[in-house]
Amino acid sequence: MTVTPCWPRVSRCRWCARPVLRDNDGAWIHADLAYVCRDRGGGLAATTAEPEAVRRAG
Ligand SMILES: [Zn+2]
Repeated sequence: MTVTPCWPRVSRCRWCARPVLRDNDGAWIHADLAYVCRDRGGGLAATTAEPEAVRRAG
């Protein structure tokens, strides 16, 4: 029986409200594969992908 890693679901970025998910290194990244947030005008923001609710194991 194969044990599948329990990846967290896609969350919403706390900064720009776009969907974020985990990359292969466990870092949060936006669904469009950009780490840096962007504002409505398409400009880069000073924040990076971060889920609304951060759950820390342990
Ligand atoms: Zn964002």
